Amino acid sequence: MGEEQMRQVIGVDIGGTGIKGLVVNEAGMIVVEIARATEACQGRKGILGQLNELLSELLARCAGVKAMGIASAGRVNVTTGEVVYATDNLPGWQGMPLTQWAEETFGLPAVADNDANAALIGEAWLGVGRGRQNLVMLTLGTGVGGANMFEGRLQRGAGWRGGDWGHSVLVPGGRPCNCGKQGCVEQYVSGSALQRLALEQTESTYTHGREIMAAAIKGEAAALVILEQYTADLALVIANVSASIDPELIILGGGVIHDHAIWWHELTNKLHSEGLAGRIVAAELGNRAGCFGAARLALERLYQDGSAWPGGSDKEEKALGY
Ligand SMILES: [Zn+2]
Repeated sequence: MGEEQMRQVIGVDIGGTGIKGLVVNEAGMIVVEIARATEACQGRKGILGQLNELLSELLARCAGVKAMGIASAGRVNVTTGEVVYATDNLPGWQGMPLTQWAEETFGLPAVADNDANAALIGEAWLGVGRGRQNLVMLTLGTGVGGANMFEGRLQRGAGWRGGDWGHSVLVPGGRPCNCGKQGCVEQYVSGSALQRLALEQTESTYTHGREIMAAAIKGEAAALVILEQYTADLALVIANVSASIDPELIILGGGVIHDHAIWWHELTNKLHSEGLAGRIVAAELGNRAGCFGAARLALERLYQDGSAWPGGSDKEEKALGY
């Protein structure tokens, strides 16, 4: 099948600070890509307005789009397409019937999923998880997202909270979390947590994660102490995930991974004794992973609706069914 004959779908990723969208074909090749800052503070109306604008622009530029996939922060009921739980990072988003809204607004088949689930699907399709069936993803960004894949299928859970490692407790009675609990993983290994670690160091003046990384390269003691603490906490999380799920690979993604070369060795050192150093990998698709995963779900929606998977020969692709 020629590229021009392949079906095109939209994949969108809605986060607390940005909304990204792309049109891809069945081979995962990007046709168009758009990114915007999210005005999450405006609540549901504001987010929907931006989503509408972004989807309209993608559709205007690619008339042949057949379906859309939407990845969103929060817990998403994939069967109904509703956001069943969202924190204050996206005010008013909880209860949003996302799939229904997209289908009614644009007249195309739509599907929605949690953003970390979508990122894992993206990495399993086109990234570092290709060819693997048992994977865990941890996205280390503003918060910590998580997703589990077992035997090629996402484990979304009975209440759509499967893989929510960010809100498992690492430190009982520890730092308060915006989910209402204390000591959640998210409060120790997210990008925001890294920044807070820096603020707690009296002798340091770093205000951004990138500054910490740059200082660590120069060998500044304060930055090295911060990364030592950060990787120790992250190693503990990884050991816990392995004890529970024992996946082939744990994929680490999110903004913190940008500079992973600086602290990766320190992290793998801490995992050697448990035989886990070779089980962790850095995500390959960067901040596009969620969009790719959402697009893949849209393609599968078309496939479920009766059209054959492209090419017809790739049995592995057909069998995945995320
Ligand atoms: Zn929490």
